[in-house]
Amino acid sequence: MLPVVALVGRPNVGKSTLFNRLTRSRNALVADYPGLTRDRQYGKAEVEEHPFIVIDTGGIHGDEEGIDALMAEQSLMAVEEADAVLFLVDARDGLTSADFGIADYLRKQDKKIFLVANKVDGIDADSAVAEFYALSLGEEVHQIAAAHGRGVTQLLTLALTPHIEALRQPKVAGDNPDTLNEEFDNFTDDELDYELTEAELAKQVEEAPSENDTIKLAIIGKPNVGKSTLTNRILGEERVVVFDMPGTTRDSVYIPMEHNGRSYTLIDTAGIRRRKNVTDIVEKFSVIKTLRAIEDSNVCLLIIDAREGITDQDLSLLGFILESGRSLVLAVNKWDGLDDHVKDRIKTELDRRLGFIDFAKIHFISALHGTGVGHLYESVEEAFVSATKRISTAMVTKILDMAVFDHQPPMHQGRRVKLKYAHAGGYNPPIIVIHGNLAKKLPSSYKRYLMNYYRKSLKIMGTPIRIEFRETS
Ligand code: GDP
Ligand code: GDP
Repeated sequence: MLPVVALVGRPNVGKSTLFNRLTRSRNALVADYPGLTRDRQYGKAEVEEHPFIVIDTGGIHGDEEGIDALMAEQSLMAVEEADAVLFLVDARDGLTSADFGIADYLRKQDKKIFLVANKVDGIDADSAVAEFYALSLGEEVHQIAAAHGRGVTQLLTLALTPHIEALRQPKVAGDNPDTLNEEFDNFTDDELDYELTEAELAKQVEEAPSENDTIKLAIIGKPNVGKSTLTNRILGEERVVVFDMPGTTRDSVYIPMEHNGRSYTLIDTAGIRRRKNVTDIVEKFSVIKTLRAIEDSNVCLLIIDAREGITDQDLSLLGFILESGRSLVLAVNKWDGLDDHVKDRIKTELDRRLGFIDFAKIHFISALHGTGVGHLYESVEEAFVSATKRISTAMVTKILDMAVFDHQPPMHQGRRVKLKYAHAGGYNPPIIVIHGNLAKKLPSSYKRYLMNYYRKSLKIMGTPIRIEFRETS
């Protein structure tokens, strides 16, 4: 399970600046989807190859009135559930009573807390941060300038890494993209001489994962979109293998089930099976539980509420799903009882705001009445098969040749970009590594062209494709 680090502090101390710096390097995939550049509150970061989830708890204000009253519920929960907290203070403002309020609250949480003084650029940092020792949180006040990146690497590597390493659980053995990559270390150009017949090509494309593979399907969505209703609907219709599932409120409930001979594990973030009966109080929505469910899934079913349209929280969850490289199926729920003009309006909004994730199937469903629910499986299956498809070096290179033949890469400063060969660099999501001269200089329009070419040739639906470029002379 990925460790979770929460950023906490008064408004304007620089939390989102630090958040952006921490998540930016990991955002390669998200950057391919220009519709998702808006501010997000959670993302994936990495320190020395240790990934972690970072949460910007935007809602914490904190003042003499009593911090509990002022903290947004989700921010509070994020702090409670996080494995470590970066408590930001403003080195220019100096110590404020609100900082004391937040410190008092954090001390009660029994968490690993790192006190971080931001904005130390252009001031006498050592004397400016001295007063923060009065907060009595740990031995050190870490000095950073988030806007310029100063001190951030040290904070991560010296302070956070040892803590995060301790939290990490041993990697699960088995399918591992790292070992898949090793296959390609011995790649030589000789392999390119081997031409596949059309029949061989078709066979390789169609190669599906074994029938026995279980699809881990996470039901994702903000509060009240209908997660519990859908989960109940699915469980009412399918054979549920086990009923009693353990777990704490911090974990999702894992429910094994079958549909059409395929086994699934439903990752239920709404906690249906934990309740004694359906009328039990609806479980609290937890961002961290949701993020972990996404990480642990093969396919995410993201539910959107037709009656609310697309909200920032939907986009934030979508961003995290893309960042994690998970397969995606969208379900617009509560489609029952809507006027036709309302339906049209929603479809237009979907096109406008989610048109950039053209790879994901969209279903219009009513979890309450069961309409459209059965068809979800087809897209889930398709997304799973696409994401785990094994693709040969010869084939990705052949497709590259065809794409370049159809449409030459543009010149870069008077020089022709030459794409030479490609290999599959992993799956789930599929990664295609392209080698060539000036390959990294390709404009994003041409990268998108290649991505779409691969998507169509390989019939990959429901999963993002990651394309990486390597310079070869
Ligand atoms: P948040 O409300 O805690 O998320 O704070 P923001 O990240 O929005 O930052 C608040 C303001 O502080 C913005 O105007 C930032 O440009 C500025 N800021 C953030 N980090 C630094 C820094 O390292 N140095 C300086 N001088 N300003 C910073
Ligand atoms: P969760 O918080 O995402 O688990 O959402 P719930 O499943 O608890 O649903 C929230 C509310 O939306 C409940 O009042 C449901 O009855 C209602 N609801 C869920 N699905 C539908 C639907 O397809 N149509 C309509 N009209 N209401 C729905």
